[in-house]
Amino acid sequence: MSRSHRTSEPANPVGSTTATFVGMPSFPHAAADAVGNSQLRRNLRHATHTIRGKRAEVVAEVPDWEALRARAAAIKDATLARLDEHLMTLEDRLTAAGAHVHWARDAEEACRIVTDLVQQTGVDEVVKVKSMATQEIELNEALAAAGVAAWETDLAELIVQLGDDRPSHILVPAIHKGRSEIRQIFSERMAQAGRAAPADLTDEPAALAEAARVHLREKFLRARVAVSGANFAVADTGTLIVLESEGNGRMCLTLPQTLISVVGIEKVVPTWEDLDVFLQLLPRSSTGERMNPYTSMWTGVAEDDGPQDVHVVLVDNGRTTVLEDPVGREALRCIRCSACLNVCPVYERAGGHAYGSVYPGPIGAVLTPQLRGITGALEKSLPYASSLCGACFDACPVRIDIPRLLVHLRTRVVDEGRSGRPSAESVAMRSAEWLFSDARRLTRAQQGVTTAARALRGRTSLGALPWPMSAWSSARDVPVPPQETFRQWWARTHEGRA
Ligand code: SF4
Repeated sequence: MSRSHRTSEPANPVGSTTATFVGMPSFPHAAADAVGNSQLRRNLRHATHTIRGKRAEVVAEVPDWEALRARAAAIKDATLARLDEHLMTLEDRLTAAGAHVHWARDAEEACRIVTDLVQQTGVDEVVKVKSMATQEIELNEALAAAGVAAWETDLAELIVQLGDDRPSHILVPAIHKGRSEIRQIFSERMAQAGRAAPADLTDEPAALAEAARVHLREKFLRARVAVSGANFAVADTGTLIVLESEGNGRMCLTLPQTLISVVGIEKVVPTWEDLDVFLQLLPRSSTGERMNPYTSMWTGVAEDDGPQDVHVVLVDNGRTTVLEDPVGREALRCIRCSACLNVCPVYERAGGHAYGSVYPGPIGAVLTPQLRGITGALEKSLPYASSLCGACFDACPVRIDIPRLLVHLRTRVVDEGRSGRPSAESVAMRSAEWLFSDARRLTRAQQGVTTAARALRGRTSLGALPWPMSAWSSARDVPVPPQETFRQWWARTHEGRA
């Protein structure tokens, strides 16, 4: 039995507040709500522009930033090319250092391994370090189904968890929440999860942080099991690394007796020399800081110091399938800094929930369809959730050419749709091909259009078009066509000239 002494029962917001994204509608539908919410757009704009500005300043301080990016990309590519060897080395070193290594093919297997490990300890609650991998496999839901409460200890994750919400940003999962909303969530929900918020809680950031600190401290001190992810895993020594800003992660990584780390297999770097490159790139790209406040590293078990029972679950969950695609595998370089989200004009307006995954923004648009497969409407729509402006590529510290990947995935979406019933888009494209492949046909069509345009003289926009073009015109102003074609204009203005 757990030695927990909860202040109220049942104290498991996770059980009722799923973070699952399964069943999300396609991107355009999910984004429509966010685009119509002006408060949300203001919150997003303010937050992303603030981080964006800080990042630009600290990146400008590095004289060889481009060289550093190129080096990081080269290290990642070389590591991915020999991923199996590096993972075997990592396993050997971890085992030699007293850790237990488990391999999980998919989310279900990973959840089962972690749940079994937790149940073997006899506790009914765990504390968690913020971890994208555990969200990806929906570990909280799996633990809740087994009667184990998983408490998020990152401040933003705590807000999301208490608020029955889903994360909408990689680094700042509660980016869509304003201060007064957070105060309300703490006031109404903290008591159900443990120590209540003070009755006179204000929406001052310091007061909110203090309420969270007191609430979480109670959990750290009684927890016997912690679950973490890892930003990096150094194969050479079997060392896992977590970077964070609040120190809550370090409390989880050092106080409990059992530590279970869920790590995506692409997190491995061969040596400490390689790690050095990423430790320079990640804080500047993510929080706009020269160095992140807390960098925790642990190598297996240290006698009388920190967790004495250490487990590492290495998760595939679609990563080896991504690795098989020579173009798409570039996405596995990602170090989850979120710089691409903060510069993306689509993310800034649509918000993170519309991407229907724990990975929002440009990286989500290329990673989610690859990890899950281009199977559902959402996965098919994500490669189109971009204007292809290229800002994400410029910002990415590991030089992932996201626009190229988006186009590559769009091609796959189109190719995979060829065998079924033709879409409205493919019918339109075939019609265009028929028209443009014959000069006389094109001229006649153009003459028809310009004649119609002359009849519409005085109007600037056509308004709504009939189906199937309505899908296109519903989100755009369709201008009235010109009253003469380029050829007609040329003949009129250059007649008799060479
Ligand atoms: S794709 Fe690049 S910019 Fe975006 S989160 Fe990953 S590493 Fe950061």
